[in-house]
Amino acid sequence: LPVAIFPGRVNSAGIDLSDPLVLDPLEDRLGALATKRWYAGPTFPADDAGEEAPINAPQDLTHEVGTRRDSTQEEVETAITRALAIQPGWNALGGEKRALLLEAAADTFEEHTDEILSLCQREAGKSLLDAVLELREAVDFLRFYAGEARRQFTAPVLLPGPTGEENRLGLAGRGVFATISPWNFPLAIFIGPAAAALAAGNTVIAKPAEQTPLIAALAVRLCHAAGIPEEVFQLVPGAGDVGQMITSDPRIAGVAFTGSTDTAQAINRTLAAREGPIATFIAETGGQNAMIVDSSALPEQVTRDVIASAFQSAGQRCSAQRMLYIQDDVYDEMLAMIRGAFEALTIGDPADLATDVGPVIDPDAKAALERHVARRKKAGRIVWRRKLPRGTAKGCFVAPSIIELDSILDLRRENFGPILHVARFKADELGKVIADINSTGFGLTLGLHSRLEATRRFVEARATVGNFYVNRNQIGAVVESQPFGGEGLSGTGPKAGGPHYVARFATERVVCIDT
Ligand code: GLU
Repeated sequence: LPVAIFPGRVNSAGIDLSDPLVLDPLEDRLGALATKRWYAGPTFPADDAGEEAPINAPQDLTHEVGTRRDSTQEEVETAITRALAIQPGWNALGGEKRALLLEAAADTFEEHTDEILSLCQREAGKSLLDAVLELREAVDFLRFYAGEARRQFTAPVLLPGPTGEENRLGLAGRGVFATISPWNFPLAIFIGPAAAALAAGNTVIAKPAEQTPLIAALAVRLCHAAGIPEEVFQLVPGAGDVGQMITSDPRIAGVAFTGSTDTAQAINRTLAAREGPIATFIAETGGQNAMIVDSSALPEQVTRDVIASAFQSAGQRCSAQRMLYIQDDVYDEMLAMIRGAFEALTIGDPADLATDVGPVIDPDAKAALERHVARRKKAGRIVWRRKLPRGTAKGCFVAPSIIELDSILDLRRENFGPILHVARFKADELGKVIADINSTGFGLTLGLHSRLEATRRFVEARATVGNFYVNRNQIGAVVESQPFGGEGLSGTGPKAGGPHYVARFATERVVCIDT
C-alpha cells in the first residue's frame, strides 16, 4: 500500500484555467501588471551601490521587465557574517516554529499569485499553464518541507541504552547554506532548496540565476513579510562571479546547486580547494533523457507523452526528453503520428493562451541550439523543423525540431530546448539501447511505453536513472508523489520533494546521558 508521509496533506489545487470565470478576470489582472517594473538587489545593500543591469523579456528583448544589481564582494561577505550570527538562534527555534514560518510563506505566495504569475511570464517567458504549475510546486515545496521540519526537527529519536543511559539522536542545521538556482524554474527551484535548508535549521544566502533575479527577489520579500527574519534568508543576486565569491568562502557549510553539470563540477572543485570545514554539496544537474517505445505501446498515448516531454516549457526542463527510441516495426507509423502532433504545435508569445512553445531564455541559449541543429544538418541527418511565425523575431525563439540519429551516443551535450532526437531499435537490441543510454553517464529521467510487464522489469532492472516513468510523460514530478533527482552526471542524488531531502541539509548529533 502507498505510504503517505503526512496523512491528510494534499498538494495545492492550482488554478483551473479551463474555467472562464477564473481565467477572464485573471487575464485582466495580469494585463494590468504587464508594464510594472521590478527590481532585484542584495537584501542588505551597501551604501555605494553599483550599476544596475536591465532584465528583458525572452519573448521580446525590447521589453524591459526591471533591473538587477549584482552583489559586491563586500555585500557577499557581510551577508554571510549576518547569516552566521543568527544561525544558532534560527536552529534553536526548533522544527515547529520554523514550520509555521514556512507555511506562512506558502500562504503569502498564494496571496500574491498575480505578481508571481506575471513575473514567471515576463521574466522567464513561461506560458500561463507553466507559470501556474510553477507557483503550485513552490507552494508545495514550502508546505512539504515545513512538514519535514515538524516531523524530523522537533524531538530527538530515543535510542536503546543498554547500560541504563539515555541516548538521543537529533538533527541540527549545519550553518549557513548557499543556494544557487536556475532560471528554468525561477520560483520553484529557487524556493525549494532554500526552504529545505531553512527547515533544517540553516540560514540561507540565495543566489538566483542572473537571468531571473526579479522573481527570486519577490519570493524573498514575501518570505520576510511572512515573518522569516531578513538575516535568516538573504538574496545575493549576481552572475557566476558572485557564485564563486560565495562558494569560496570557508564559512559556507553547504551548497545546494541546480544547473549545468559543468558548473556543478566547477563548484565542487572550489569547495574542495577551500580551507576549513568540509562543505556538503547537493547538486541537481542535467540529463540526456530518453524514452523507449516498443511495439506494444499505444500510439495516441505515446504521441501525447512525447510532445509534452520534449516540447512543453520549450524543452527547458532538466527532465525533458531529448532522445526517443522507437522499435523498428512500428517506427514509421509512430513517427508519422508524432510528427503530425509536432506540426500542430503553436509557437509564440507565452501571454497568448493558445501557445504551446514559447521562447528559450536568452540569445546565448538560442545560438547554442541553432548551432546544434546546423551541425546535424551538415552531418547529413534528417531534420524536421517548424517555421517560426511572424512576430517572433524580437524574441529568443527556436523552431521546434526533430532530428533522426543512429543512437544516443551521437549526442555529446545536453541540448536544452525544443529539440527531439529519434532513433530506431530492433526487439533484440533493447539491452544495448539501455546500455547506450546508461553510458552517457547522465541518470535523470527515463520513459518507457510498453504494455509488457516483462519489458518494464527488464528496463527497470538495468536503468541507472533517478526517475523512471512508465506509460506517461517524463516531466513534471509531483512533490511527495515523485521525489525528483538524478545520479551520475545528473546530480548527487537527494530527491527534491521526497522524505529524505531535508535531512541532507542537516547534521546529526547524539547526546548520551548517563545516570
Ligand atoms: N522537476 C522538474 C520536472 O520534473 C524538472 C526540474 C528541472 O528542470 O530542473 O520536470
